This record gives sequence, structure tokens and C-alpha cells, in this order.
Amino acid sequence: MSMASSPAESPSLRSGPASVGAPRILVVEDEAALGLLLSYNLEAEGFAVEHVERGDEAELRLLESPPDLVILDWMLPGLSGLEICRRMRAREATKTLPVIMLTARGEESERVRGLTIGADDYIVKPFSVPELMARVRGLLRRLAPERLASTLAAGDLGLDRENWRVNRAGRDVHLGPTEFRLLEHLMTKPGRVFSRAQLLDAVWGLSAEIDERTVDVHVGRLRKALSMVGERDPIRTIRGAGYSFDETFGKDA
Ligand code: CA
Repeated sequence: MSMASSPAESPSLRSGPASVGAPRILVVEDEAALGLLLSYNLEAEGFAVEHVERGDEAELRLLESPPDLVILDWMLPGLSGLEICRRMRAREATKTLPVIMLTARGEESERVRGLTIGADDYIVKPFSVPELMARVRGLLRRLAPERLASTLAAGDLGLDRENWRVNRAGRDVHLGPTEFRLLEHLMTKPGRVFSRAQLLDAVWGLSAEIDERTVDVHVGRLRKALSMVGERDPIRTIRGAGYSFDETFGKDA
């Protein structure tokens, strides 16, 4: 038995392959068939999907590695959707994370409460899949447009998600796939500090059993490639916490 398998990794926890540029969506739905249907359709739309069936599992995943959007069922075993949403809004890392609440018919009066505690949108079951997809895209466009952008830019640094290219001050920066994903992940949320565990999860994938020092090695390579001619380092090391993309990078006078 592997020591890395924790009780938190229930069989219902599922994650797609680490896909560059794909916005990550956490589906929290205890009806297995509906969860599967949503995952299938979201993946077909190009999203990276993780599906959990319990509220307490969702809470754990939100603490470990917040996605770009959450589809949250109202009635869940473990912890209710309402309580998950309330806790998300109370935490800095998930305060503005887009949430679509799913409610069953008959719970409709409750949805007002859902919006009051901070859900961004709600949809009543049964709903059409195309309608939910439209809501997902609409919400991401409105609240997290950087996650749908095909290029990311800061100062003299540009990252092209579709063509896997990075340039700095007009020159091509050659990065390995891991360094590319690291940079992309950091650039998506300038100023946000990611722990080594969060970076391992986001860049290497959930099942990766890799030493956290590996992150330091790849950040080192990334820095070297980005600042080959002694330019300013866009990545900050926060002692005892992790790494972030410097939000002041490219913004100085
Ligand atoms: Ca339910």
C-alpha cells in the first residue's frame, strides 16, 4: 500500500489530465449519473473537470487547490452546498471564485438564500446541459476573463497558451512543459501566493507523488530561462509559504 493514499482520496474523486490553459471546474454533485454527465460535457467543452460527491470532500479540495469555477449542488452528504459557499466567501483564496448553485425543484425559495450568501448564479434541476454550459462560459467571461484568454501578458513577458510559446522583450524563451505550466499557473493570478503543494497539484497533477523540493528545482529553471540576460525576476519567493507572480511586474514607471 502506498503511504500517499489518504482517506480524502475517495473513489469518487476524479481528475482529468493536466491540460494547459484549460479552466478548472470542480463539480460537487452527489447524484453520480448527473455528476458524470456534467463532467463529460464540460470536458468536451475543453474544461479540466474534477468531480466529488460529498460536501466535505469539496471543502478539502477547495482548501488544497481552488479551481476556476465551482458547480455546487445544494443538498449534499457531509456538508451542504450552502455551508460550502459560505465558507468559500469567508476565505481570501476563494472569496471571488465563481459559483453556480444547483437546486432541485421545491428548493427554489432556498436559492434566494444561496444568492444572499454569495453564489453567483443558480440553476434549477432538471436543466438542459447546453443551458448550464452557457452559464459556465458566461460566468467565466464576466468574473475570470483571464482564464479564457489565449494569451497572458505582464510587462515585457508574454505567454501564448495555444501555441505553447513564451517571449520576453521580443525574444523566444525556451521552456520545458513543466516550466511552461508553472509560469502559466502563476501568471493567471498575479500576487496570489501558491504553496509548493498547491503548485504540485496544479502543475504535476493530483496523483503525483513528488517531493516538494522538485517545485524549487523547476522554479529555478524557469527563473534562469526568463532572466537569461539579467532582466528583472518576475517570480517572488515567499519564505515558508511558496511562490507568486510579482503583481508589480511590468507596472513600474
Ligand atoms: Ca443532491
